This record gives sequence, C-alpha cells and structure tokens, in this order.
Amino acid sequence: EVKSNGRNGFQEFSDTVEKENIANILIEEEMRKALDEDQYVLHFQPKMDLRNQAVAGVEALIRWEHPDRGLIMPGEFIPIAEQSELIVDIGRWTIRECCRQYQEWVRTTGMELPISVNISSKQFLHHDFIEQILTELERNSMPPHHLDIEITETLAIENKEVTQTKIESLKDYGITISMDDFGTGYTSLSYLSMFSIDRLKIDRTFIQGMVHDSSHAVIVDSIVSVARHLDMVVTAEGVETNQQLEFVKNCDCDEAQGYLFGAAIPADHVADHLLDRLYQ
Ligand code: C2E
Ligand code: MG
Ligand code: MG
Ligand code: MG
Repeated sequence: EVKSNGRNGFQEFSDTVEKENIANILIEEEMRKALDEDQYVLHFQPKMDLRNQAVAGVEALIRWEHPDRGLIMPGEFIPIAEQSELIVDIGRWTIRECCRQYQEWVRTTGMELPISVNISSKQFLHHDFIEQILTELERNSMPPHHLDIEITETLAIENKEVTQTKIESLKDYGITISMDDFGTGYTSLSYLSMFSIDRLKIDRTFIQGMVHDSSHAVIVDSIVSVARHLDMVVTAEGVETNQQLEFVKNCDCDEAQGYLFGAAIPADHVADHLLDRLYQ
C-alpha cells in the first residue's frame, strides 16, 4: 500500500479548490439569471415589542425560488454572492422590493409596517447605496423612519470611518440602524459608542445558551446595560421557548424575534397573521 505523498495531497487539494471555483462560477451565473428572471422573494419575520406583545415591525429575509431545486435559503447563496459584485445587484433588488412591498401593504391593508433589511458590506460601502435607498423610499412614499438597516459589527469595525459617516447620513434622513448578530464578531463593547446605532440585536447563540449557561446570561446582561447607557434598543434574536422569553424579559430586552412568535412568512400571509397584532 502506497501512502499518498505530499505532491498527490496537493494535487487533490488544488483539484478540489478548482472544482469549488467552477461550482461557484456556475452558481454565480445562475444567481445572475435568477435576478433577471425574478426568482428571488422576500419573506418576513415579526419582531415583537416585549412591553405590549405587539408586532413592532418585520425583518425581510431573502429566499431563492429555484425552478428545479425549490426554496433555497440565504445561507446557501448570499455568501457566494458576497464574493463578487453580484451582492450589490441582489442588494439593490432587496431594497427596491422592501419599499415596493411596504407600499403594497399600505395600499391593500392600510398597515404601515416598519421593515428591517439586511445589508452586506460591499452593498453598504457602495458609493450610491444611500442614494438608491432615498430613491426607493420616495418612489413608494415610504417614511424613512419605517426603514431599518441591519449591518454587522464586522462591517463596522473593518471600515470604521466610512461606517460612521454613512450611519450619520442615513440617520439624518431618519433611517434607523441595527447591529445584527451582536456578540459574534470581535467588537469590544467600548467600540459601540463610536457608532450612532439605534438597536443591538443579540445573536441567538447567547439567547439560546443563557438558559443553560450562566456565562451567557452574564454577557446578555452586560450587553443590555451598555446599550441602556448608549440609548440603544435591544432585540433578542432566536427566541424559541417560553423559558428563553422569560430570560430575555428578566434581562430587560426591549424586543424579541424568533420561532416562538413566528418564522419568516411570504408577504401575502403577513397581513393575515400580523395585522391584528400590530401596534401603531
Ligand atoms: P439574520 O439577519 O441574523 O437573520 C436571522 C436568521 O435566523 C434568519 O435565517 C431567520 O429565519 C432565522 N431565525 C429567526 N428566528 C429563529 C429562531 O427562533 N431559531 C432559529 N434557529 N433561527 C431563527 P435566514 O432567513 O436563513 O437568513 C440567514 C442570514 O442570511 C440572515 O441572518 C442574514 O445575515 C442573511 N440574509 C437574509 N436575507 C438577506 C438579504 O436580503 N440580504 C443580505 N445581504 N443578507 C440576507
Ligand atoms: Mg438580520
Ligand atoms: Mg441576526
Ligand atoms: Mg446576519
């Protein structure tokens, strides 16, 4: 029996990398085509206000309705799109679709439902990002304070100055800013005061962990107390059980999101499910 030597090992490795590259190029082409053929959809997950158990807004979450493969979740294609400029075009579509949907809900049901939208780094850093948002808001008569932009701490930390400037400018227009998946990056809490963020969304690993692991509960407590000092709203992500809900209420979180209140659903179902739970 011959053990594979280093050379063969490397050959295999580079074959795998090659295959992955080719696979990604094919997926990229397919994703581009999907944009032309309108195969992306937004689903919406409620965000609850814990003071009154009312729906405070929804988060838009993209899905790909693939003609052969069915519904594909963002985790499978957004990271690939983020490797190229494609994410900028998908991001443009997402913002356009959010604002269009807002307007459609107003027209058909009268509900004025605040929407949060996830923004990738390349999209946020793109020179006409803010301009595009303003155009879509105006086109759809959507009040800026009903649009919330979700960015990650990694984006903010890796591009401190640009992020500061863009956040200030978005806020001047009345758009709100949330920091998503908070706690998973490497931001020390002291960095937070650099940015005029409106909301911290604590990542679900802490929320789900705190019931069993007291160190997670301590982390959530500290995040909430820092957020209070900086005048930020705190949202707990990934609340799935009543026990987790009790914990996040005890920690004084303002809002919660998670399967306990509802998963993301297609736009058509939103009015049926959420209209009577809206508080405005
Ligand atoms: P995210 O922004 O942190 O969104 C929350 C994710 O957690 C969503 O997954 C949501 O369906 C899921 N989730 C909500 N509640 C629960 C819960 O109680 N338990 C569990 N286990 N999961 C829960 P989804 O829709 O698969 O999205 C994954 C990520 O993809 C998002 O994480 C976001 O980073 C990204 N993403 C989604 N839509 C877009 C988009 O339009 N543009 C960009 N750039 N990224 C997007
Ligand atoms: Mg998000
Ligand atoms: Mg998140
Ligand atoms: Mg995220």
